[in-house]
Amino acid sequence: MAKCEYCGREMRTAKGCKIKYYLGRSAGKKGYVHRMKVGDEGWVEPGKRCGDCGALYGYYHHPGCDIEKCPVCGGQAISCDCDLPRASTLVPDKAELKRILGGELQ
Ligand SMILES: [Zn+2]
Ligand SMILES: [Zn+2]
Ligand SMILES: [Zn+2]
Repeated sequence: MAKCEYCGREMRTAKGCKIKYYLGRSAGKKGYVHRMKVGDEGWVEPGKRCGDCGALYGYYHHPGCDIEKCPVCGGQAISCDCDLPRASTLVPDKAELKRILGGELQ
């Protein structure tokens, strides 16, 4: 059994990760982007768990999962060219995003 280092949840039994956003320069004008959920990549079927990180369909992959796709370029999140999933700050929710971005958040 393994715990996710970002949300602290047990990856095989938790529904998914609590990290919803990537924050970083390559995220475009807004500066942040919503992560893709399990199933958005087209590989995990409804009701199933991700074969790599164990997150349930409709929830968020645990960062570092090799099935997760990058929300910006659509490439594999752990190896895409835009680098966002690796170089970004992981942000759990909108409240935290607002706290970090302050007035810049639109
Ligand atoms: Zn997690
Ligand atoms: Zn996954
Ligand atoms: Zn990318």
